[in-house]
Amino acid sequence: MNNIVMDGRAVSKKAKESIAAKVLELGKKGIVPSLAVVLVGDDPASKVYAGQKKKNCESVGISFDFHQLPGETSESELLDLVEELNRDDGVNGILVEMPLPGHISNERIQAAIDPDKDVDGSNPANLGRLMSGLPSLRPCTPQGAMYLMDSYDVEFEGKHAVVVGRSNIVGKPVGMMLLEKNATVTYCHSRTANLTEVLRSADIVVAAVGRPKMITGEMIKPGAVVVDVGINSTEDGIVGDVDYDSVASVAGAISPVPGGVGPLTIAMLLGNVVTSAERRCSES
Ligand code: NDP
Repeated sequence: MNNIVMDGRAVSKKAKESIAAKVLELGKKGIVPSLAVVLVGDDPASKVYAGQKKKNCESVGISFDFHQLPGETSESELLDLVEELNRDDGVNGILVEMPLPGHISNERIQAAIDPDKDVDGSNPANLGRLMSGLPSLRPCTPQGAMYLMDSYDVEFEGKHAVVVGRSNIVGKPVGMMLLEKNATVTYCHSRTANLTEVLRSADIVVAAVGRPKMITGEMIKPGAVVVDVGINSTEDGIVGDVDYDSVASVAGAISPVPGGVGPLTIAMLLGNVVTSAERRCSES
């Protein structure tokens, strides 16, 4: 691979076309996949994300059901709504926008979502299934990072993949997915002593840190594949965890920010809603 820019927007467009085709197939059986999004309070960024999900759902024919609750909603009221959505056969996917107001536990709410409707893939049951190699709804961003690399025929088997970041929602699951593809996986995090040394031995780097331009060209082995999951708001606009200019001149393939993993995340969410609807359909 040589100087390839992995174009997440183009790959996402194609992924959404194939999702729309699956929605049409389900439609022939009288099923319209549906996503319920719950927003507590009026955090402006969360409102924007919910709006993007609505637009994307509608673009592929998924029905979008929005529940906006006041910021003072109690945890038990929110749990009641989650239970109601769990029981509703017309709802295939449930997504509660995070972070929730401080008086509500993100973890308790996430764990209350029916794993078969947990289209965010971050419910402990789904993370456990991923780790056990069982079918599951997988977290969207790691799935998007893998989908992007797959679309560019990145080889995983026997390669050394280094994941920088070990969060439950990005770092850990993407490492499990790389392992499943027979890569040799190393996790790095804030306590890693020799980050540059480890990175320089990587054939594949996935950066999920949340520190603007932290990974620079001299930390990368020539020809490596570099996937930048980071989204950091700076004075220069949105930048990744990778210093794009210095890394692009060394890497064999790189994903830009914006326009890399981000567009795939939403496509994978739509895919999870459709998977959930297909499973329900095959069970009934
Ligand atoms: P977290 O803050 O949960 O995790 C960050 C990880 O980076 C932690 O494991 C932390 O280590 C590690 N870390 C922090 N500083 C360093 C350092 N100096 N050296 C090495 N590792 C370090 O973030 P998320 O996983 O939720 O998100 C990561 C990034 O991905 C963010 O920029 C976020 O905005 C972005 N993101 C993008 C998405 C997309 O759609 N493209 C979706 C979700 C997130 P430790 O565990 O030791 O603290």
